[in-house]
Amino acid sequence: MLIIGQGLAGTWLSYWLYKSGISFKIIDQKNPDSASLRAAGLINPVTGRRIVTTWMIDELLPFAINAYRDIGSFLGEVLINETSVIDFFPSVQMLQAFQKRYEEDSTYLLPVKDREKYSEWFRYDLGWGEINPCQLVYVEKLLTSWRAWLKKNNYLVENIFDLLKLKEANKSLDYSGIRASYIIFCDGKSSAQNPHFDKLPFALNKGEAILVEIKSLPANKVYKKGMSLVPFRNNIFWLGSSYEWSFDNDKPSEKFRKNAEEWLNYNLKLSYTILEHFSSIRPATLERRPFVGFHPFHQQIGILNGMGTKGCSLAPYFARQLVDNIKQEGNINPLADINRFGRILTRLT
Ligand SMILES: Cc1cc2nc3c(=O)[nH]c(=O)nc-3n(C[C@H](O)[C@H](O)[C@H](O)COP(=O)(O)OP(=O)(O)OC[C@H]3O[C@@H](n4cnc5c(N)ncnc54)[C@H](O)[C@@H]3O)c2cc1C
Repeated sequence: MLIIGQGLAGTWLSYWLYKSGISFKIIDQKNPDSASLRAAGLINPVTGRRIVTTWMIDELLPFAINAYRDIGSFLGEVLINETSVIDFFPSVQMLQAFQKRYEEDSTYLLPVKDREKYSEWFRYDLGWGEINPCQLVYVEKLLTSWRAWLKKNNYLVENIFDLLKLKEANKSLDYSGIRASYIIFCDGKSSAQNPHFDKLPFALNKGEAILVEIKSLPANKVYKKGMSLVPFRNNIFWLGSSYEWSFDNDKPSEKFRKNAEEWLNYNLKLSYTILEHFSSIRPATLERRPFVGFHPFHQQIGILNGMGTKGCSLAPYFARQLVDNIKQEGNINPLADINRFGRILTRLT
């Protein structure tokens, strides 16, 4: 098996393959601005203005917790921790939406006991609600540790993959001397330009964030008020993000930086230092479901992509489904299987 890309998708695919005893090689050109390395790492079970439970979360969440603990104990690292999102209501509408959702269905929400609990650190006039349990994945630590393991055990080729060099020979594939039965693209935004998959309805999405040092803020919660302030490492918090469906370039913008500084100056009562400002492209899809499976024409060519804003919860689960499918031990969820685009993918132009 040849895997292209070692973001969250390629990491999980290679881990499950290794655990299943299936041999593989990964080709990855490290990009510090890849979606995975820039992610906050949050798995939040509810979303949006109406606080809707996210797609399949009751299945994805327990699966993800076990999966990150499993790879964590394999690598000797803590890679996931439970947290809460403290949702400071930015408007009366959001306060009312939270109250309505809590009355109708309190799953993943906790009642507020002490309204002033966070007033030493944050300015908030409309109170707050708590989303719990959430999970925080240490994505940077996971990718770095797994990469070191891959390298040490000779599974990793650090290079740019060039599709023109991929040859089919006697029912197997050859890439610069690497022979494989299958190739699976886990290459994030690059797949949107891959002639095998560019007809899939990708909807790439730009996100910007900053890293801020805040020495005296406890790093056991995520603090949200429109933007989210997420514990990242040591005293450093990740503040973001933007969601741009149409953009001229993939660079950090002055506009976002200004918004982020205004957010900090208005909402945070503590001193802070901005360390870094970055942007990255999410491999999102039009109907917000991942792309998993093998090309209907080229059955040796597969994809694990389209994780959008939810790579931390979707990647371990759908990588596992793909491996089970390869072992003929299970099917890919039809809502994620790229076979749903069979007609589009087999169209010649
Ligand atoms: C700002 C931001 C915040 C986010 N926050 C969260 C969050 O809190 N929680 C959450 O669940 N999700 C979050 N996401 C979404 C999440 O990051 C993505 O869903 C996920 O990282 C996608 O992983 P991937 O492996 O598919 O792609 P990527 O992370 O983009 O990985 C692709 C890899 O392939 C490599 N590659 C590409 N082309 C080639 C080539 N030709 N040759 C060699 N290598 C190649 C790249 O260098 C990279 O290493 C966030 C995303 C962004 C941008």
